[in-house]
Amino acid sequence: MATEQTFIMVKPDGVQRGLVGEIVGRFEKRGYQLVNAKMVHASQEHLEQHYADLKGKPFFPGLIKYMASGPVFATVWQGKDVVKQGRALLGATNPLASAPGTIRGDFAIDVGRNICHGSDSVESAKKEISLWFGQDGSIPYKRAVDAWIYE
Ligand code: UDP
Ligand code: MG
Repeated sequence: MATEQTFIMVKPDGVQRGLVGEIVGRFEKRGYQLVNAKMVHASQEHLEQHYADLKGKPFFPGLIKYMASGPVFATVWQGKDVVKQGRALLGATNPLASAPGTIRGDFAIDVGRNICHGSDSVESAKKEISLWFGQDGSIPYKRAVDAWIYE
């Protein structure tokens, strides 16, 4: 089975609003495999590294403040096409442009409170997984159910 991994994070507003289970549940129900997870109250420096590509954007300081305002729930998911499919499950960056049925389209309104993060490419997923989880990255295990998800 061709497989890949992605980094999905419930942001501080998602944690505060009790949406961890809902977000994790959508990935589980789709059939993706949870291969790592933890709660972290990240430092500003760590978040500046995570969002390094956005340094210089007008919303950057507010983004870092928002992301450092409380704990996040960091997860790693594995499965076929999970990077692209993960982004589709989350919806558009701006929740107002996210279709109902997506996580942001169902639970968020403002772009600066869009409750979740997902890697935008296989390359950034690798970087993000190693930034948040270090060398270990993921905890591999066999799932009997895979035979019912993949043909
Ligand atoms: N963001 C914002 N204002 C903007 C664009 C982005 O506050 O105009 C925030 C938003 O929380 C977004 C994050 O910055 O999720 C990272 O932006 P990116 O363009 O990478 O969007 P994402 O990959 O999260 O969809
Ligand atoms: Mg992004």
